[in-house]
Amino acid sequence: MDSIGSAGLRQGEEALSHPEEGLPRPSDSSELVQECLQQFKVTRAQLQQIQASLLGSMEQALRGQASPAPAVRMLPTYVGSTPHGTEQGDFVVLELGATGASLRVLWVTLTGIEGHRVEPRSQEFVIPQAVMLGAGQQLFDFAAHCLSEFLDAQPMSKQGLQLGFSFSFPCHQTGLDRSTLISWTKGFRCSGVEGQDVVQLLRDAIQRHGAYNIDVVAVVNDTVGTMMGCELGARPCEVGLVVDTGTNACYMEEARHVAVLDEDRGRVCVSVEWGSFSDAGALGPVLTTFDHTLDHESLNPGAQRFEKMIGGLYLGELVRLVLAHLARRGVLFGGGTSPALLSRGSILLEHVAEMEDPSAGAARVHAILQDLGLSPGASDVELVQHVCAAVCTRAAQLCAAALAAVLSRLQHGREQQTLQVAVATGGRVCERHPRFCSILQGTVMLLAPECDVSFIPSVDGGGRGVAMVTAVAARLAAHRRLLEETLAPFRLNHDQLAAVQAQMRKAMVKGLRGEASSLRMLPTFVRATPDGSERGDFLALDLGGTNFRVLLVRVTTGVQITSQIYSIPESVAQGSGKQLFDHIVDCIMDFQQKQGLSGQSLPLGFTFSFPCRQLGLDQGILLNWTKGFNASDCEGQDVVNLLREAITRRQAVELNVVAIVNDTVGTMMSCGYEDPRCEIGLIVGTGTNACYMEELRNVAGVPGDSGRMCINMEWGAFGDDGSLAMLSTCFDASVDQASINPGKQRFEKMISGMYLGEIVRHILLHLTSLGVLFRGQQTQRLQTRDIFKTKFLSEIERCLRPTLPPPLQGAFLSTVGDCWPWVVARSALEDEVGEAMTHLFALSSSLAPSDSLALRQVRAILEDLGLPLTSDDALMVLEVCQAVSQRAAQLCGAGVAAVVEKIRENRGLEKLAVSVGVDGTLYKLHPQ
Ligand code: ADP
Repeated sequence: MDSIGSAGLRQGEEALSHPEEGLPRPSDSSELVQECLQQFKVTRAQLQQIQASLLGSMEQALRGQASPAPAVRMLPTYVGSTPHGTEQGDFVVLELGATGASLRVLWVTLTGIEGHRVEPRSQEFVIPQAVMLGAGQQLFDFAAHCLSEFLDAQPMSKQGLQLGFSFSFPCHQTGLDRSTLISWTKGFRCSGVEGQDVVQLLRDAIQRHGAYNIDVVAVVNDTVGTMMGCELGARPCEVGLVVDTGTNACYMEEARHVAVLDEDRGRVCVSVEWGSFSDAGALGPVLTTFDHTLDHESLNPGAQRFEKMIGGLYLGELVRLVLAHLARRGVLFGGGTSPALLSRGSILLEHVAEMEDPSAGAARVHAILQDLGLSPGASDVELVQHVCAAVCTRAAQLCAAALAAVLSRLQHGREQQTLQVAVATGGRVCERHPRFCSILQGTVMLLAPECDVSFIPSVDGGGRGVAMVTAVAARLAAHRRLLEETLAPFRLNHDQLAAVQAQMRKAMVKGLRGEASSLRMLPTFVRATPDGSERGDFLALDLGGTNFRVLLVRVTTGVQITSQIYSIPESVAQGSGKQLFDHIVDCIMDFQQKQGLSGQSLPLGFTFSFPCRQLGLDQGILLNWTKGFNASDCEGQDVVNLLREAITRRQAVELNVVAIVNDTVGTMMSCGYEDPRCEIGLIVGTGTNACYMEELRNVAGVPGDSGRMCINMEWGAFGDDGSLAMLSTCFDASVDQASINPGKQRFEKMISGMYLGEIVRHILLHLTSLGVLFRGQQTQRLQTRDIFKTKFLSEIERCLRPTLPPPLQGAFLSTVGDCWPWVVARSALEDEVGEAMTHLFALSSSLAPSDSLALRQVRAILEDLGLPLTSDDALMVLEVCQAVSQRAAQLCGAGVAAVVEKIRENRGLEKLAVSVGVDGTLYKLHPQ
């Protein structure tokens, strides 16, 4: 068997197949050799145990659990987004700590075009030993000096340079551009740096040097650079794996799971720091005597135990220890050793990689061994190859167990059954070792079978990734600015809302007086709210929005309602008036027949929710259609008459039309049956409107000065005289222009269900055209009118944490049943409204615990719509929805404030306690 990648792992405790098993055995292979190599064999169960234990440690560290100390650090990196592929520009990258005692500077050009890569320019500088061990300032001055030497040689413009700092030492990062060095490693010992922000030290040095004006935008470690530099493929690259001198991985975690961040939204790249994993229970059984020796002889005994079995710094050393052991026992080199074989560090990763390479001829292995002062025989060469293979195979398998733990963690975090993910791999072991990656991949497949993983080698040793982080940081900052600019006009302050209230109040007064006003303030001839004594059976019609309904309402001590919904096809709603009213009568006849009411002539009330000038309770002249209706020959006609004419045409039915009311009035009356303080009706559904009880003396054109009358404000038209122009955005203008009634119902178009989704869609289109959303890709779907439903705003925001308004004086009541019978019943009564009740009704809202649910909801909805979103997109769409619905609710609130103030002043009261009856699906179902 020549590849562990395709080798079947047998169940249970059986050892995993090893590549050397397929090679011919040296003829003198003794039990000793077997015993030696056997130690490096790891069973599937052992790997699974390591995977589980590491996963446990990772989750413990994420939760911020300090005791017992977790075996891995799980350091958040503040990289919150993976690349779009659209990132472009020139970036300078400074690498320190990735490549031993040298410092690398790169000039990386990102083209923003997938698959189109410009080779970076780079220069490596050897850091003098004295600098590595000198004062910190000296090191950073050296870096600044190298930077300007490199830049001097570049022919490109050096205006506005943005730098990404790759700093691969253990750091405590507190921001994308803030990182405190915990301790030096890898031979560095500069004084005065530990505990300091290395970005600031670099900035200071660049400034001291004074040659270039460079903005240090981000600091990252090499795993993050590896992940971020990954070429964009079909699936997101959300894991970075580095096996170089040491080993580590990073991946994109849900921010809400990272306890130290206190952040509920989005994702963040977490550096696992798995080199330090050292669970005795899981690692103990796979540690060999050679691992123990290596650890004892290392500079940091007891630390980084996992790394010491995988990292390139140690693989050569493990091979050396095994070879020396076998030589001493007489199995190798005829029992001879050499000073080199007995000295620490004499066999390097490069040697191991070369000797294990199946394509390397025996002569090459021979030469390497001879360089070590050994005299290998023919069988020695093969045995040495077996040893190299055993050590490296185990390293790849252990690394796979750790990677499988990360994949399991991704799956847990996202609550997904299956996971599709790309892993970017980097570091010299991955790049140069012939079979490391294939063994790693095969083992991952066996340990995490439910994950569909593709492996992608890193580009430019992670330098491109660092440039990418820098570019993403710059892009996100620019996008956030654009988002804020776009949404700023939706964020109304107190003064703006007070101005809306004042204007509404002015328009109310003018409308009541019969003067020119965008508010028609239509008398409804409803003079009192119910008192609970009303009784009888009634038929009701409800026309005015999404559905047409016919209802039978029985009022005794309670209310019993039977109803049926009938659709009004668009061709009927926008056809002839005759057609529309004939259709209505047909529906009534159908309903009567189904309810066994044929032949009975019950009193009928007609909830007709379009602007009507009423001349009596049963007479209403349609002023104009709204909300998508446009039937011909109706405007200017008495709607009750049109209905009666249709009844006559149908002959088969007798109906007694008693009242025509607006839905706002019906709502107020229905709620008034429950709460006598209810003197305002409000609708926020397909459209929006309000009514309230006004003093008759203020109402021009209706005889009488005493008592009150309900006034249908028709407030949807508020602002049609241009008074809302200051608040209207270009998105409102687009929605208005595309509607069937441009220039009309301007207030309604900022508030109601028919329009909010459309406003959001127009904003999303704009943000896409700016490149802020969906990677700038305009899709046909998003161009489709009404594709973004207002109910999506509810679904998205339902998952947000509550931001409840301050407590209210008075109450908002939602209707429970249907409303109009109270109007009909009241029409016979002259009673005054009873004493005001005092209890308040709480506004209920069903809010789920976390914003991240909202983000998932956004994802689900946008993915359903076929929009290509990233997690940043989801966050932005969420913010757009919030801004639009918040403005709608605030404008509505400003209108209600104008109404209640009017009522209060009408009555000369210091304080008014009043209830508002509210209906409409937007009001009822939108969570906020
Ligand atoms: P109408 O006003 O037409 O009599 P509704 O009060 O039921 O009827 O309102 C219907 C409107 O409510 C639709 O135009 C739609 O935009 C909106 N809507 C429907 N479902 C939701 C929801 N879940 N959240 C917010 N708005 C919704």
